[in-house]
Amino acid sequence: MSWIDDPAFARDQPFGPQTLPYGVVDFGDGQQVAVRVGDHALPLRPLAADLGDVGNLVTGWTLDQLLAATRAEWSELRARLRDLVTGTGRPHGAQLVPLADARVRLPFTVGDYVDFYSSRYHAENVGRIMRPDSEPLLPNWTHLPVGYHGRSGTVVVSGTDVIRPHGQRRGSKGPQFGPSGRLDIEAEVGFVCGGPVARRVPTSNATEHIFGVVMLNDWSARDIQGWEYQPLGPFLGKSFATSISAWVTPLDAFAAARVPVPDPGHPRLEYLVEDSPWGLDLRLAVEWNGTVVSRPNFSDMSYSCAQQLAHMTVNGATVRPGDLFASGTVSGPEVEQRGCFLELSWGGREKIKVGDETRTFLEDGDTVVITATAPGEEGSVVGVAEVAGTVLPASAGDGG
Ligand code: MN
Repeated sequence: MSWIDDPAFARDQPFGPQTLPYGVVDFGDGQQVAVRVGDHALPLRPLAADLGDVGNLVTGWTLDQLLAATRAEWSELRARLRDLVTGTGRPHGAQLVPLADARVRLPFTVGDYVDFYSSRYHAENVGRIMRPDSEPLLPNWTHLPVGYHGRSGTVVVSGTDVIRPHGQRRGSKGPQFGPSGRLDIEAEVGFVCGGPVARRVPTSNATEHIFGVVMLNDWSARDIQGWEYQPLGPFLGKSFATSISAWVTPLDAFAAARVPVPDPGHPRLEYLVEDSPWGLDLRLAVEWNGTVVSRPNFSDMSYSCAQQLAHMTVNGATVRPGDLFASGTVSGPEVEQRGCFLELSWGGREKIKVGDETRTFLEDGDTVVITATAPGEEGSVVGVAEVAGTVLPASAGDGG
């Protein structure tokens, strides 16, 4: 039995010793790097000496030092941490903080942020809703992972409130300005980059440059987006906020969850071919005011994180520690697997049942929580921590 006395720290629970995600917490004594064990945070600065040569990677204020290290160092730290938390003796200086008593912080300095669009089901549904008179998939879609550069400065940690954005939207007598009336979510998986600065990263080298996985909510104002997006893509309809989970689950934890991506039906260009599969059998749940409204599966995504990273850097653009890229909305073939409310309400035409109420888009005060689990080794389960956010009225942003 481990010295950690927490029933949630078990192999059949999402945050047992098979997962060990990293985050940054503050419990009144300044912020520090911690590892999540069950429903507790274990701050690592006091334990650095127990972690050998790699202990110095977790003594800072954020995960930045850790992200700038190498895959070999990440693996060594994870192995040493696993020994430390599964041992019988409590290490000197170890302090377990209940998650309820720890304020979480944005875990790393976000560098460049890219958002992809890699669910065929999402892309087809949005195409049918937004452009009903044309082919839902544009001709490039099955040949490359479509994406755009987002705004890293407004990436926020789970639990941060989101103020309803203002903007322009289409009106019957010309454009109108005001608070968005069609505020939406996008349930996505985010990949946190690390390792040496690199360019032209082949799919076979993805593990050197992808440190871990977060849940990500790409908040989207559909009325603003619908008026502004052509011809250059998303801009102010998305840049007001992007939420990520407070805990980064290391990529190493997903060894038993790797699956091939679906066959595109034609040969891929060489730089997008994988020598081993990097799709993930990651099962998401989207909860709206406490009601689960969707359960998409990441294994339905048409491009893997390795293919996305290869594509993002194939032109010579660099990837740096702290860069973040997101998968695109995760949707599946079934209605109850749609990863945004634009799809679930079919463009606002169908009511979505949320507990005792109905919704099409988000109302002020609404809370959305997105979580995911994957199969782990030897029958265990691996969790990606929740990303949660509550909508504040547009007036909450006045005067700030
Ligand atoms: Mn998105």
